[in-house]
Amino acid sequence: MIRDPFGRPLKSLRISVTSRCNLSCVYCHQEGVEKARSEMTPEEIQRIVEVAAGQGVKKVKITGGEPIIRRDIVEIVQGIADVKGIGEVSMTTNATLLADKSQALREAGLRRVNVSLDTLDPRIFREITKGGELDRVIEGIRAAVDAGLSPVKLNMVVMKGINTDRIKEMIGFASENNAILQLIGLMENEYSREFYSEYAQDLERIVRELEEEANEVLVRKFMQNRTRYILDEGEVEVVFPMHNTEFCAHCTRMRITADGRFKPCLMRTDNYVDFLGPMRAGASEEELERLFLEAVSRREPYFKKPLGMGEKADGVKDEGNL
Ligand code: SAM
Repeated sequence: MIRDPFGRPLKSLRISVTSRCNLSCVYCHQEGVEKARSEMTPEEIQRIVEVAAGQGVKKVKITGGEPIIRRDIVEIVQGIADVKGIGEVSMTTNATLLADKSQALREAGLRRVNVSLDTLDPRIFREITKGGELDRVIEGIRAAVDAGLSPVKLNMVVMKGINTDRIKEMIGFASENNAILQLIGLMENEYSREFYSEYAQDLERIVRELEEEANEVLVRKFMQNRTRYILDEGEVEVVFPMHNTEFCAHCTRMRITADGRFKPCLMRTDNYVDFLGPMRAGASEEELERLFLEAVSRREPYFKKPLGMGEKADGVKDEGNL
């Protein structure tokens, strides 16, 4: 398996297949990129996944924009799932278009989905998403579960004064619908700085409350030490904001932008490696592989742990933890 200069293995790709979206969430980080001018075809996506799989990558997450906005999304999923060595294809979606597509996506090879859902109040949902219809999302979630996508995880971005008092209700909803709730800390980014300064919620208090009430607490060592709390109402997982050395130390993914560039770090815009240009100009497999390796060599933890804490400067504790 390939490793970056900081010893972190490269296990997964997070591919944005479009930067277009049918919602406009007030806090959206847009996966850390400006709007794309062009989009990759399903064949181009499959080809770059083959290059990464050749270097040991086994998982692909499809994101956007809103991935299901693409008419050829089933073809894209099928193309990725067909690549030898890829064991899991997943997607993050707002689920507004999922109800009609979940069965076809499942048959094409999609294994699981993360659905963005911050509230069960239709009015607040419309305000957060600037016009989204909550009912369509709920239909999408139920269709995904019925189609056998598993697990269906609900991503709830916690925002002070907007949804912090509704966490229990969301845990109950997730559990009734055979889904798992994930609480996500609001991330500061260049697209939503003002919003962040007003609505960022300290998750520590919420975590303390969950700890007190949980029947069981489980830590997922290999996933940025994410913690799962098992409560009477159901189960909930907490994902801290990326401003977190743990997050970087355990990052094992390479991002791909909608317009065909490797993006070695969510937080940076200065170290992309373009592959779509060379691919369209006739690049060979060796050349594409060289570009992939170049992108891997540009990976470094954005937030590093201070020295003298029993850690290496690169923030990686030891190999057993990766
Ligand atoms: N449209 C798809 C969706 O809604 O899942 C995929 C793109 S969206 C950018 C991917 C995920 O990023 C969503 O779960 C969303 O909640 C999360 N996200 C976006 N901006 C964020 C922010 N500022 N802080 C934390 N999470 C954020």
